[in-house]
Amino acid sequence: MEKSGKNRLALVLFFLFIFSHSMADNGSVPVVDIDGDEYVALSDLGRVNGLDSSFDIITQRGRFYRGTSTAVYQVGLSAVLFNGALKKYPRPVLRKAGDVLFPAAFAEDLLHGFYPHWTVSRKDRLVVFSAAEPGPRETPANGKALPRQKTEAPPVRDRIGFIIIDPGHGGRDPGAIGRGGLHEKKITLGVASRLEGYLKANLKGVRIVLTRRSDKFIELATRTKIANGHLRENENGVFVSIHVNASISPRISGFETYYLSQNPSNDEARATAALENNVVVLEEKSHRKSYDDIEHMEAFMLTAQIQRESALLAECIQSGIDSRITEFKSRGVRKADFFVLRGSLMPAALAEIGYITNSREAQQLTKAAYQEKMARGIGEGLVSFIKKYNQMIKN
Ligand SMILES: [Zn+2]
Repeated sequence: MEKSGKNRLALVLFFLFIFSHSMADNGSVPVVDIDGDEYVALSDLGRVNGLDSSFDIITQRGRFYRGTSTAVYQVGLSAVLFNGALKKYPRPVLRKAGDVLFPAAFAEDLLHGFYPHWTVSRKDRLVVFSAAEPGPRETPANGKALPRQKTEAPPVRDRIGFIIIDPGHGGRDPGAIGRGGLHEKKITLGVASRLEGYLKANLKGVRIVLTRRSDKFIELATRTKIANGHLRENENGVFVSIHVNASISPRISGFETYYLSQNPSNDEARATAALENNVVVLEEKSHRKSYDDIEHMEAFMLTAQIQRESALLAECIQSGIDSRITEFKSRGVRKADFFVLRGSLMPAALAEIGYITNSREAQQLTKAAYQEKMARGIGEGLVSFIKKYNQMIKN
């Protein structure tokens, strides 16, 4: 992504609130009650000395920064990116009466993390902070002083509580079109529904969510937003998008699974991503801008951990399909820059389950028995991923 001044200037809708030094190094921010939960307002945090913040009213996304520290949040999400590491809270960030409201625990973590030399504590309906080094007797009577550097806790590794199945395309976006007017969107929905059936029968206690159940158009960013919206405290999820590939060569057939990377495996992987990303021309113009938005990229750059997990997820799905599908060959795991995977706060993969431009494969992809087999392969891959993942977090 080109970091030109022109691009920066293009962010005309980007609201920048820079607060001047209006509060001393000692002070407090009030805690307000929202439906029984404790929140702190952006307008109050903005008065803390040296704490800068910005908020984009279009994407409802904002950022705190001080020196090299950053915290990125999105209204409606209970997960916040603290210096690139994900941290989850019991309640989501809210927007009310023009202000942004944060869980009080987030405000405490923010001050702890950004001001390592301050003491931060809770006192009644206030988050109190002080630049003074605490003497042992200065610890608040309620003992609520939190350990410092709390934001540097190890990255979140929570059990998988849900799986988001994303059938590619839909509505005015047919996806790739095969001979005889065969639409990718129809195949992806068929396989997704069968996958849901398999997972509901074989993964008890894990919620299964489809981004669409009918022939409906959904923007790419909305698909990830749906997935992220399911994140809860102490619970992680998996995002799997299902697609059918296309090639100018009718001879090419087979299946491949992708995970998100800014560096595509090869030109073929780049071309596949370009094909799937094309749908943004069908989206509302005002939304399209955000895919090229530098802030967007900075804000939701994948953490290394999520990328590692996504690579494992893609491997599991690919070998799951491989163990069920004998008619066509495995084309392996690849990486590319798919818009639909961008911004996912959980391991995410995209399966290209075959080539619609290969007549033999296209014919199979429309058959119920083949779709069932495909769904089973993906499902077994997901089950194996969750097993490996849960094993990993135990250690
Ligand atoms: Zn597609």
